[in-house]
Amino acid sequence: MDTTRRGFLTTAVGAAAGATVLPNQAQQATEAAHDHQALPSDLTLRVKSLESLLVEKGLVDPAALDALVDTFENKVGPRNGARVVAKAWSDPTYKRRLLADADAAIAELGYTGQQGEHMIVVENTPTVHHMVVCTLCSCYPWPTLGLPPVWYKSAPYRSRAVIDPRGVLDEFGVQVGEDVEVRVWDSTAEIRYLVLPERPVGTEGMSEDALAELVTRDSMIGVGKVTLDGPGAIR
Ligand code: FE
Repeated sequence: MDTTRRGFLTTAVGAAAGATVLPNQAQQATEAAHDHQALPSDLTLRVKSLESLLVEKGLVDPAALDALVDTFENKVGPRNGARVVAKAWSDPTYKRRLLADADAAIAELGYTGQQGEHMIVVENTPTVHHMVVCTLCSCYPWPTLGLPPVWYKSAPYRSRAVIDPRGVLDEFGVQVGEDVEVRVWDSTAEIRYLVLPERPVGTEGMSEDALAELVTRDSMIGVGKVTLDGPGAIR
């Protein structure tokens, strides 16, 4: 296991230890976990043990495991989704295709594969705000968003996104007016959703590449908005 994968596991486990796992708490949990890294957590040890056993028995090739992790960590990820969003903002005919047949429109950009076979794109507007959850587990569109964040997989997000979506949005720092309808979409093994966020005012004339830089992962899950003064990069 290389340091990248170890770091990935450590971060995931550290945040998972936060339990309530909304972003500010996950951050604290991660920091707390870093204070106690002398002994790996139970989950980390279990994952390492399982991997060692599978490799020892010749059931998996460690190089193949590394290649898989590298693919989803570095080669696919939210930047793909950001390019889809930027193209939809820049090209009205592409946007129509995207909303009508997301699989085909996303495949036009070359983003296909496992966990992205049945996509639906929902568009945020001044009157409707969409957010996505998987109440059952962690279904997520890998080809366009990469691996799901830890909080997306957490029980509190999965339950509270449905029970109190406005409260969850508020904790993410997203203010949605009372006159705006909030729609929550439950991903399944069959269908994955991608939110097409609202294009920020003041981006007229920006290139597709520059627009893509503004699009955040959270905005494509529906728990963030794209802003001109935002991070300007995928978080
Ligand atoms: Fe799921």
